[in-house]
Amino acid sequence: MLDEIKEIERKALEELAQASTESELDLWRTRYLGRKGAFTQVLRGLGTLPKEERPAVGKAANEAKVRLEGAYKARLEEVKQAELQKAIASEAVDVTLPGRPQEIGRLHPSTQTLREIVDIFAHMGFQVYDAPDVETDEYNFQLLNIPPHHPARAMQDTFYTTDPGVLLRTHTSPGQIRVMREFAPEPIRVVLPGKCFRYEQVTARSEFMFHQVEGLVVGKNITMADLKGTIVNFVRQMFGPGRKLRFRNSYFPFVEPGVEVDMDCILCGGKGCRVCKYTGWLEIMGAGMVHPVVLKNGGYDPEVYSGFAFGMGPERIHMLKHRIDDIRFYFSNDVRFLSQM
Ligand SMILES: [Zn+2]
Repeated sequence: MLDEIKEIERKALEELAQASTESELDLWRTRYLGRKGAFTQVLRGLGTLPKEERPAVGKAANEAKVRLEGAYKARLEEVKQAELQKAIASEAVDVTLPGRPQEIGRLHPSTQTLREIVDIFAHMGFQVYDAPDVETDEYNFQLLNIPPHHPARAMQDTFYTTDPGVLLRTHTSPGQIRVMREFAPEPIRVVLPGKCFRYEQVTARSEFMFHQVEGLVVGKNITMADLKGTIVNFVRQMFGPGRKLRFRNSYFPFVEPGVEVDMDCILCGGKGCRVCKYTGWLEIMGAGMVHPVVLKNGGYDPEVYSGFAFGMGPERIHMLKHRIDDIRFYFSNDVRFLSQM
């Protein structure tokens, strides 16, 4: 009987060493240590043994059982550790995989161009003046020499708000009145960058929202020559030295005289191409001498003071510089376009 116990123990240890999962260990435990297990059977059979053998066999069986329980606990711990290691290994980060690219935002082409323009004027001593996007009819039109029913209003279809007389500015020019009223009678040299809004069909050439940079110089003895010198200097810094300019007579209600400024076509150099419509010239801005009525509305005596103003669209300038033929790219938020800039 003692040999039988040793044999059971030997076999149990052998099987225990082979069990490699918790469920296999459970089965093993039932088989050897459970209520119907091998050792329970042995102990139950004690009664059939001669009386003098019983203590020795009982003791041997109990000792073997204790040893097996210890072995079971140790093996269980090993199996648990192994399973844990396996889980860690399978869920580990593979450091050799390529990382996910970080998308880095950048400045919008309109912002880049606005900054470029403002920078050039800042070097000529201009300051930046911020004026509101939401304006009154008075500032956007009337004080700029555009009274109600003036035909020039038809040139700028307007977004009106539900408040009477309040609108989204159609140009940055109302800022001229604001800056003059703030600084009169001091001399002024400012640029006014910002958004403008027009109730217009969106096409390749026009958006309902776009930017403008307005410029205003007011002082004593300011002449058309100052206007020309300033614009020539700007254009040559923006588009390169040697650019030719042409000032064409034009009409804007808030200047007198008014001009439109053309630059020789940067694509064909003046020979004529599709972009310049075979004229050799590209229109880049409007300008003129500040109208006496506007000077007066701003608080300056037109008999003493004079000034010039100009306005340009940074989107148009960016389009010319980068040969882009559709303004809708700028605000349709297609990252494929924006990320190229
Ligand atoms: Zn051309």
